[in-house]
Amino acid sequence: MKIETKLLHAGIEPDSATGAIMTPIYQTSTYVQDEVGVNKGYEYSRTQNPTRHVLEKNLAAIENAQYGLCFGSGLAAIDAVIKMLNPGDEVISTNDLYGGSYRIFTTIFQKYGIVFKFVDMTQIENVKVAITDKTKLIWVETPTNPMMSIIDIQGIASIKRDDILLAVDNTFATPYLQNPIDFGADIVMHSVTKYLGGHSDIIMGALVLNDSEVAKNLYRIQNSSGAISGPQDCFLALRGVKTLHVRMDRHCYNASKIVEFLQVNDQIDKVYYPGLVNHPNHIIAKKQMRNFGGMISFSLKEDTIKAAHSILKKTKLFSLAESLGGVESLIGHPASMTHASIPKEIRIQSGIADSLIRLSVGIEDVSDLIDDLEKALS
Ligand SMILES: *Cc1c(COP(=O)(O)O)cnc(C)c1O
Repeated sequence: MKIETKLLHAGIEPDSATGAIMTPIYQTSTYVQDEVGVNKGYEYSRTQNPTRHVLEKNLAAIENAQYGLCFGSGLAAIDAVIKMLNPGDEVISTNDLYGGSYRIFTTIFQKYGIVFKFVDMTQIENVKVAITDKTKLIWVETPTNPMMSIIDIQGIASIKRDDILLAVDNTFATPYLQNPIDFGADIVMHSVTKYLGGHSDIIMGALVLNDSEVAKNLYRIQNSSGAISGPQDCFLALRGVKTLHVRMDRHCYNASKIVEFLQVNDQIDKVYYPGLVNHPNHIIAKKQMRNFGGMISFSLKEDTIKAAHSILKKTKLFSLAESLGGVESLIGHPASMTHASIPKEIRIQSGIADSLIRLSVGIEDVSDLIDDLEKALS
């Protein structure tokens, strides 16, 4: 099946008890057993729940994977991956990483003796140099937040040893635009909160993968640590995923039109979008992505926090908020929001200028969106 069909149908059957075409919300903690040890495959909802199970199968299928696991948030999914490691193990990650991922690595897991190295992964050579015999995991995010850097998944897969797991945070691209497993990734992680849910109404995370031993380990951690997603949220995620392709086509189209507008606006300094031919890794973006997504960052010629704030205050359709990937357009200011905790020199070094503004372009009419930006910029 093509991805557009899999989004609606993969792993989803009419409910066996009633024929309900939409997967019911199995709002139950436990399941009656016929006799000790005899059950219908479900014993306790931390371990298995039918609504979650359908979503896990669906998410695995749309990423060309065998196994899927859903968690209470994207960070809970990351938490499960790092819990596979032991003290002394090393992780290599990108220096342009989602702030929450950086925080869980450095403030939660570092103190348990896991070593994290952050390198500029847009240059594969940097990854190669960082690998030691203690390296157990390479954690990639592409495109990155908020600089829209592109990391070559296949390139990294080709330089690592087989015993090093390659995990890719595929939140920005979504399975509709990019399937990291096809390029050699071992684990794909999603913040389902964003495009997969798509309607800014849930917090959820997911992991998908093919290796049965790693999957067994992760199911053990999911059950033992217990950070699962509830059945109601799984229902909403299943509903969201069914329209991912239709939404993403519009997100991409609107974003490309907004990029065109920003490029010729005389207030704007730089525009960061992987679809631009002058993006430093545009060729790799074209190789591993089917389209370039709905996220855009740009900086202003007047490079001050004040200039950025005044624009954030003036947009009406673009709502000032954290998060991304919902049907409605959002605007944010990394230097004072998501990346405020990073010291200024380090922030500037990774390209996050004082005036940098990030857009999550929604699926509204694009001329209304451009109008909104034009008024705010003038
Ligand atoms: C939001 C986000 C996360 C964290 O997911 P939550 O669902 O908020 O816990 C991780 N990675 C990326 C790229 C994100 O955008």
